[in-house]
Amino acid sequence: MEQYRVYGNPIKQSKSPFIHRLFAQQTKQAIEYQKELVAFNAFESTVRSFIEQGGKGANVTVPFKEQAFDICDQLTDRAKLSEAVNTLSFSDGKIFGDNTDGIGLVNDLYRCGVKVSGKNILLLGAGGAAKGVIPSLLAEQPAQLVIANRTQEKALAIAHKYNIETVKAMTFEELVNYQADIIINATSSGLSGHPLSIPPTIFTKTCVCYDMVYGKDLPIFLQQAQTHGVDKLIDGLGMLVFQAAAAFEQWRGVRPDPDAVMTMLRQELHQ
Ligand code: NAP
Repeated sequence: MEQYRVYGNPIKQSKSPFIHRLFAQQTKQAIEYQKELVAFNAFESTVRSFIEQGGKGANVTVPFKEQAFDICDQLTDRAKLSEAVNTLSFSDGKIFGDNTDGIGLVNDLYRCGVKVSGKNILLLGAGGAAKGVIPSLLAEQPAQLVIANRTQEKALAIAHKYNIETVKAMTFEELVNYQADIIINATSSGLSGHPLSIPPTIFTKTCVCYDMVYGKDLPIFLQQAQTHGVDKLIDGLGMLVFQAAAAFEQWRGVRPDPDAVMTMLRQELHQ
């Protein structure tokens, strides 16, 4: 059986083996997919020894996406722009890197009937997840993409890098005068258990709020949006499944059915 891995630290919480095993069942692919905890200083050696053992591909999660980017021989354009890689493929002794987080997000928005084209997007956060989704968001041609981050320099650096009129950085305070069609939370602030320190005026009745976080309960950012009257709330479970589907298709050449897996994963979360 061909071997795949997901590498991270921590990794215990990863749903990727559950998702990929279901994709393999659906598409009748004989693969083995395991999660592996990697020591902070052992990412590259772990990947190289997996390649030597005949490994075919791997997903990469926090905190190794930038290191994964560094060890690739070839990268997709979106991975180059993101400077982070979540999907590795191994062939002829070479490492190919992609970032499927953005396509995962965009496909999930489509699933929920939300189009990015022509819309004003507010992206909260400037870490790996935010950087990973920007190329795919821009490929949809939004009217504007505003990036706001607690540490303003990071948002400014991203806006400078793209250097196009569509992409702009704002401070959390400046958001008091801004209202977007779609607000995407790509911060990890929910882990602190506190709401984000953003002006409540960003929330409108008609905006869509997306949180990359998912869990049994509504993520804190979506609770915050709901309190301020937002109706359309989407958590990051779909993004997770759709980014995995894009990786699986790249590795195996067949498209799995993400919707069926999402339903099962949602049920699993509630057990
Ligand atoms: P990261 O690189 O560590 O970046 C964290 C970001 O959150 C930074 O922008 C940071 O701002 C901000 N932040 C953290 N605590 C905050 C607070 N209390 N208030 C305001 N901002 C705060 O993490 P990441 O890889 O980008 O991941 C971000 C989140 O997305 C995580 O929760 C992750 O689980 C989720 N994610 C989900 C998926 C999915 O498929 N659903 C995929 C990828 C990531 P500073 O720069 O100021 O520190």
